[in-house]
Amino acid sequence: MRQRYFPLSIESNKILVSPSDEHHILHVMRKKVGDELFFSYEGHSYVGRIDSVSPLLISLMYEEKEVNELPVDVTLYICSLKKDKNEFILQKASELGVKKVVFVNSARVVNHMDENDLSRYCARFNKIIKEACEQSQRADLMEIGGVISLKDMPSNEELKLVPYEMEEGGTASLIKELESIKDYKSVGVIVGPEGGFTPEEITLLKEKGYKSVSLGNRILRSETAAIYILSAINLYAEKE
Ligand code: SAM
Repeated sequence: MRQRYFPLSIESNKILVSPSDEHHILHVMRKKVGDELFFSYEGHSYVGRIDSVSPLLISLMYEEKEVNELPVDVTLYICSLKKDKNEFILQKASELGVKKVVFVNSARVVNHMDENDLSRYCARFNKIIKEACEQSQRADLMEIGGVISLKDMPSNEELKLVPYEMEEGGTASLIKELESIKDYKSVGVIVGPEGGFTPEEITLLKEKGYKSVSLGNRILRSETAAIYILSAINLYAEKE
């Protein structure tokens, strides 16, 4: 597998990596002078070559044309779950090409999060995102867009979907929306907490332009629902 790194900077054809990436390059991957490495920086993908190992000096060789980002900007609004589940979602959303994750506090959220909590978790969350984006060869790091209350949900995405287990008609509603996904530049998806959304919250989301879709006849855990709908978006957005 091609190991990919997100460097600290690329300036004057020199690639500067963090101390932990330097350790990984030299002592885990055991790279030597002349070896090529792959980098993602500000949405672009580059190949570099090691000129020296002590100190570690890496030159930029060329930019790769292929960029592994989804053709549509996906924002995942996830009702806050337990800490380990939030971390799991960040990892899977990174792998599934999400541009931004926003944590949401809704009526039935058990583990309410605020900006202070988010600051405390930030280093750990960013590490999970960086490793997942490197692993899945992304050109961009997924962003964390903060924590909001459900009543303050923005409605700026062109297509807005809310998976809702009470929606009838099986997966037809989801398929119908995803068949035209290539017409949109941005998609917002909000997934409910373990206790689900209240009927009032669904009404509010619909007023904001969210379309309610079913993910099939079984009730899924929130993290499964997030992975399901993000996978479906990948399937349709990248269909040739
Ligand atoms: N409160 C519900 C219950 O106990 O019957 C279940 C909520 S479910 C565990 C958590 C979230 O996953 C829901 O708010 C919804 O967004 C999503 N979800 C789970 N299963 C779904 C399905 N079959 N169709 C659509 N959304 C689903």
